[in-house]
Amino acid sequence: MIRAAVLKSVGSPLTIEDIHLPPPSAGEVHVRLAAAGVCHSDLSLANGTLVQALPAVLGHEGAGTVIEVGPGVTNVRSGEPVLLNWSPSCGGCWFCMHGEPYLCEQTASAWQRRYARLADGTELYAGLGTAAFGEETIVPSSALVSLPTNINLESAALLGCAMLTGVGAVINSAAVQPGESVVVFGTGGVGLSVLQGARLVGAEVVIGVDITAEKEGLARTNGATDFILAGDQVARRIRERTAGRGADHAFECVGSATTIRQAWSSTRRGGRTTVVGIGTKDEKVEFHPQEIFYFGRTLCGCVFGSTDIARDLPRLLEHVQSGRIRPEDLVTNHIKLEDAPEALAQMSARKGARSLIIY
Ligand SMILES: [Zn+2]
Ligand SMILES: [Zn+2]
Repeated sequence: MIRAAVLKSVGSPLTIEDIHLPPPSAGEVHVRLAAAGVCHSDLSLANGTLVQALPAVLGHEGAGTVIEVGPGVTNVRSGEPVLLNWSPSCGGCWFCMHGEPYLCEQTASAWQRRYARLADGTELYAGLGTAAFGEETIVPSSALVSLPTNINLESAALLGCAMLTGVGAVINSAAVQPGESVVVFGTGGVGLSVLQGARLVGAEVVIGVDITAEKEGLARTNGATDFILAGDQVARRIRERTAGRGADHAFECVGSATTIRQAWSSTRRGGRTTVVGIGTKDEKVEFHPQEIFYFGRTLCGCVFGSTDIARDLPRLLEHVQSGRIRPEDLVTNHIKLEDAPEALAQMSARKGARSLIIY
């Protein structure tokens, strides 16, 4: 038996339960978690914005050590440090064959997996296929990537979702160039990772926007050169800071119609807005046809930072080892597994950035 944070129904708080993990089957791996980040997508799964089969153990941003591999597993070995990958790609579908593994047709099926049982025998689903809110998990080998042996697993956990997404959005999706101006709406874990990515590639003006004034220090630590409180004549202040034109790039890390519209309006003519946040289906973003023509702007969706994990993780690890990327700077709370329900509640109230569960 191990302990895990279980979501039994949409909208209910997570409960800490003893659960039973079977031995790994063919192609599966048993992992002991070292740390897991509490991501905004966990909140979206818990409150029903995103759909997850239940009951489930959430958590998809984690790192740990392999305990045991099932028959036929060749990519990782017992005792090895590993990163969970909630977006495994099949390698064979049209998207995988065309360099877009983050859009793989098979990924969603990896999220519909039963992997453990409650003490009363009820089967549990693995949230986003990985179930990192447990002391241990069982995952398909495709949901794991090896890490260097000298890595700090607590920091590495944050690479799995926030940092690959945020840095990938800057480098892969938007291709931000040195000297360009960047504005980031929403400074949670992913938004802070976008700020770090913008700093990494040499953006000159990097503006963080958030509804919470207390986020300013955090935003600046993660690479913001400027901070604007949301609602405070945001578009005008961004134009003032960018020679009257507007920003070259906006990144929307909230997932709301209002901020998507603000982000688009804060870019210059010909500028680009990259929407990283995951919104609901019950809002609409409005544009009038003439402004679409006149401003010549681009509005672009972004899934998992357009990441090819086999290509991008080694590069990101190099930046972490050299100190140019600092996952630990995202973390506002180091917590225990028992605190996971409260961490989701805090996130719902838009307090803090990343909570990191240390096992
Ligand atoms: Zn996530
Ligand atoms: Zn595929």
